[in-house]
Amino acid sequence: MNILGHEHNRNGASGELAAEGPELVYQKCMAIASNLWWCWHPEVLHLFRDIDPVRWRELDHNPIALLREFTPESLAYRANERVLHSRINYAYRRLQEYLASNSTWAHTHAGVLGSKPVAYFSAEFGLHESLPIYSGGLGVLSGDHIKSASGLGIPLVGIGLFYNHGYFKQRLSADGYQSEEYIEHNVENLPLTPARTASGSPFVVRLETRSGELFAKVWKLSVGRVTLFLLDSNFETNRPEDRELTSRLYGGDERTRIRQELLIGVGGIRILHAMGISPGAYHLNEGHSAFATLEAVRLRMEDDGVSFEDAQRDIADSTLFTTHTPVPAGHDRFPADLIEEHLGPLRDRLGISHEHLMSFGRVNPGDHQEPFCMTVLGLKLSRRANAVSQLHGHISRRMWRALWPNREENAIPIGHITNGVHVQSWLAEQMRQLYDRHFPAHWTNHMGEPGVWQSIHQVDPGELWETHNALKNMLWSFVRRRLVRQMSQRNESQESIDLATRVGNPAALTIGFGRRFATYKRANMIFRDLDRIATIVNDPTRPVQILFAGKAHPKDEPGKRFIQEIANLRGDSRFAGKVVFVEDYDINVCRHLIQGVDVWLNNPRRPLEASGTSGQKVILNGGLNLSILDGWWAEAFNGSNGFAIGKGTSHVEDRITDERDANNLYEVLETQVIPMFFERDEDGLPAAWIQRMRNSISTLAWRFSSHRMVMDYARMGYVPASGGVSSSMD
Ligand SMILES: *Cc1c(COP(=O)(O)O)cnc(C)c1O
Repeated sequence: MNILGHEHNRNGASGELAAEGPELVYQKCMAIASNLWWCWHPEVLHLFRDIDPVRWRELDHNPIALLREFTPESLAYRANERVLHSRINYAYRRLQEYLASNSTWAHTHAGVLGSKPVAYFSAEFGLHESLPIYSGGLGVLSGDHIKSASGLGIPLVGIGLFYNHGYFKQRLSADGYQSEEYIEHNVENLPLTPARTASGSPFVVRLETRSGELFAKVWKLSVGRVTLFLLDSNFETNRPEDRELTSRLYGGDERTRIRQELLIGVGGIRILHAMGISPGAYHLNEGHSAFATLEAVRLRMEDDGVSFEDAQRDIADSTLFTTHTPVPAGHDRFPADLIEEHLGPLRDRLGISHEHLMSFGRVNPGDHQEPFCMTVLGLKLSRRANAVSQLHGHISRRMWRALWPNREENAIPIGHITNGVHVQSWLAEQMRQLYDRHFPAHWTNHMGEPGVWQSIHQVDPGELWETHNALKNMLWSFVRRRLVRQMSQRNESQESIDLATRVGNPAALTIGFGRRFATYKRANMIFRDLDRIATIVNDPTRPVQILFAGKAHPKDEPGKRFIQEIANLRGDSRFAGKVVFVEDYDINVCRHLIQGVDVWLNNPRRPLEASGTSGQKVILNGGLNLSILDGWWAEAFNGSNGFAIGKGTSHVEDRITDERDANNLYEVLETQVIPMFFERDEDGLPAAWIQRMRNSISTLAWRFSSHRMVMDYARMGYVPASGGVSSSMD
C-alpha cells in the first residue's frame, strides 16, 4: 500500500508543495480516504473537512466524493492555500504505522488466533454515514465490532452485502407522514475495490439453485486492519430481478430474503475459500448468515474426505452464533419449498435428505409443517451461542429451551456477551480533549479497562459542565440547521421557519430520543398524558425540551403513525419549538444527539430490547440515561449512575404495562430528573447532577465499550473455537 515507491517530481508551486508533486499529494489523500480508519480519527476527518467545509457537509462527509471533485493540481493548490501539507503527511504516516504495528492486545492475549482469522458474518455494517450498508442497531453494532477488532489487533475478516441503494432517506410530509426515498450510490465514490483472485481477475461468486444460477461480484473494503468482503448481485449475467437482490436493505419478500441469505452465507464461504483464507472461527452475527455453516460443512467434507457427521461436528466446534432478538417475528423462517429450491444443490453434495436438511431449521424435526428457522439452524450448527445482554440471555434460554428438551432452563447453552460501542467513533472531540488532559497517557489503548475511567472523579465539576454545555449548544445549532432545511423543502411559511431558527433554549433540560420507530420502543409514551407533559415542558423556571429522531420500517404503518403523532405536535402551541422531530435519523444524526443531550430517554416494553446501544454512546459524552430496566440498562443501573423507569417488571397485559410505565416515567421526571438538574450551588453548578455524570462515566464507559465486548468474544469464543483454552460465557 506504500505509494511512495515511485517518486513523482513535478516541480509545481512554491513552499511545501515543491517537495512533493500534486500527484503524490492526491494519492496520499486517496489512500487515507480508502481506509475507513480515518472516520474514528477526528484530526484526519477534520483534514478532509478543511479541504472544503461546505462540500464536505453536502457530500455526507464522504472524502472520496470530495477528492474526486479535485484534480491533483487543484487539490495541491487548495492544500497550499490552507496549509494542509504537513497534516496530510502526518495522517498518511500514522495510517501506515497503524497498519504495520503489531503491539496490540491480541498479540499478547490471543496469540492462538495467529494467522487463522475469525470470519465475521453480518447482514449490515454501520461504519459511517457515507457508506449506506446499514439500517440501524444491528449494523452499527457490527461496525463497532470490526473497528474494535482492528484496534485490538484481532485477525478478522468481515462478510456482508453491498446495498447500492442502501436504506431509505426519510422525509416527512406537511402532515407528518413518513415517505421513503432510495438513492442509488455511485460505487466510484465509495472506498470499495473489486476483490481479485490470485491470478488478478475480479472474483465472481456463482451459486446453483434448482431454478438457475445466481451470481455476485465482490467488493473489498478496508476498516483499519480488518478487511470486509461485500457481495453485490448487480452483475450482468444475472436475471433482472436478481440484479436487484442486494439493492436494498430488508426490502422485498421472503424469496428476496432467502436469496440474499444464500448469497451472504454460502457465497461468503466461497469468497473465503477463493481468497485462500481458512478461518479459525466463524462468527454468525444473527441468523441471516446461518447457511454459511452448511457450505462450510460441504467444503470440509470435500477437502478432507470426512463424513457429513464428522464435518458437521468440526464446523460446529469452530462456530459462534449470536442471537439478537427476543421478538418471535424477528427470526427469519422459510417454507420447505423455498429451502429445497435454494439449498437443494448444496444438499445433494452433502448427501442428506430434504427432511434431514429441514431438521436443522426445525425446533421439532418430526413436525413436517414447521418452517425452516435461521436462528434454529444457527443454534444447532454452532457449539457456542450467546445473547447480547444478561437479561436477553435469560429470555433466549427460555425462548429456545424446546431445542434441548432434557435440560433445565438455566442449563440451556446460550450465554451472553453484552453489547458495547466503539468509543473513538462516538466520543465528541471536546470530551476527548478533556479526557486527554486528565486520563493516563495512552488511555485510548485501554478503553475496555475500568481503571482509566476512574480519573473522571478528578476532573473539576465546572470544567466537565462547561464542556457538556458546549456540546449541547453544538447539538442545537445542528438541529436548527436541519429544521430550516426540512421546513424549506416542505415550503413552510417564513414565520414558522423563523421560529425554527430560534429553537433550543440553552438553559432548558434537553431530553433526546433517537432510534427505530418499532412500536415496542413506544416512542410516544411520554405523550400518553398530554396535559401532564405540557405542564412539564412549560414550567417557566424549569423548562424542558425534547428531541426526537428515527425511521419506521417502510411497511410498519403503526410505527409511521407514532412519527406522525409526534411530528404534528409542532402544530400544538403548548409544544411548538419544545418538541422537535429531526428527519432522517442515521449515524450522523445519532452522533449529534448522543453528544449533546442532557438525558437520553429509552422506554421499550420490557423485555423486548435485547440490548440497545444508543444509550451507551451517551455515557461517553456526559449525558445521563433515563431508561426502562431492559436490555443493557438492567445490568448497568446502580442507583446513582443515571435514572430508572419502573422496577424491572411487566404485566401480562401490555395495556397495563404501558399505563404503569408512563406514569412512572412522569413521576421520575417530576421528582428526580428535573429537580436534580435545576438545583444549583453557589457556583451556579448542578452539583448532584455532575456527580451523577461522573458516576455514569466511571462505572459504565469501559463496561459498555466494544473493546470490552470484542475482548470477551475473543476470550470466550474466538480463542476456544480456534483450539485454544476455553472460558465460560455465562
Ligand atoms: C446506535 C444506533 C442505533 C442503535 O440504537 P438503539 O437505541 O440501541 O436502538 C440505531 N441507529 C443508529 C443510526 C445508531 O447510530
